[in-house]
Amino acid sequence: MRLCAVSVDLDEIPNYFAIHGLPEPSAPERWLVYDVAIDRLREFARELSLPMTLFAIGNDLRRPEAAEKLREASEAGFEIANHSFGHRYDFARLERSVMEWEVEQGALAIKAAVGARPVGFRAPGYTVTDEVMSVLVERGVEYDSSVFPCPAYWSAKAAALGAIALRGRKSRSIIDTPAVLLAPTRPYRVGKPYWRRGKGLLELPIQVTRGLRLPFIGTSVTLGGPAFARRLARMCAGEPLVNLELHGIDLLDAADGLEALRPHQPDVRVSLGRKLDALRAAVGELRERGYSFVTLREGASRLSE
Ligand SMILES: [Zn+2]
Repeated sequence: MRLCAVSVDLDEIPNYFAIHGLPEPSAPERWLVYDVAIDRLREFARELSLPMTLFAIGNDLRRPEAAEKLREASEAGFEIANHSFGHRYDFARLERSVMEWEVEQGALAIKAAVGARPVGFRAPGYTVTDEVMSVLVERGVEYDSSVFPCPAYWSAKAAALGAIALRGRKSRSIIDTPAVLLAPTRPYRVGKPYWRRGKGLLELPIQVTRGLRLPFIGTSVTLGGPAFARRLARMCAGEPLVNLELHGIDLLDAADGLEALRPHQPDVRVSLGRKLDALRAAVGELRERGYSFVTLREGASRLSE
């Protein structure tokens, strides 16, 4: 099996300001993902004939323009999946009833916008627990795609949170248990604890390369540029399901109105043109190696067969 699924988390701009402990941005910057990036994504998907999965945050859909953009994407064939209602970075530490509310309200908001209940879930900040998994099963979720067994990401996040704290700012992001680094890097059914194999929910981990387990995600692909993107893609070739995770912000750059993020986020300094070239290179490399592209939902059902 050689399947590749490209998914995009539609985290709206204020989330990035919150991660860096910066004050909330004002309109129109705060809506750039729905107002600008989704159109670019659709163009990119059309150009490369790519099926894609979009992970939407329920709360963003209260704005009619955002709900409309998502409905149009759904009608154009994108899978719409659930990225929780409020994208709380402490999601995995919430009380069970609040966690249930976050999952259910996210699903209802998506259903109201696009007419169908989502079957896939991704936790805010890649952080899950056994309790999260049990809530997802109870809410009828068919696959989760949150586990990110990437040592480089884990230590970079720990370092970044430390640096933000040292500057006296407070990030809303939290760090997962290092046990997540023991999780399988290929799709698996979760056991207890969730980072062990079992018979539970189907987990589609965020992609890491073989060997070094480097992150194969939008940030590393766009920051590294086209040649590096091809190398990363080659290091994933052979995996049954390559799960390439992007963010809406990967289709934006500083010139779109993100100057305030420039000092804090190197990927914002890369031009849109170069980011697109890097993404094309990653997709092209996998296609040349015999990969066909599917939504995560389709990938999940092929894996379940
Ligand atoms: Zn997110």
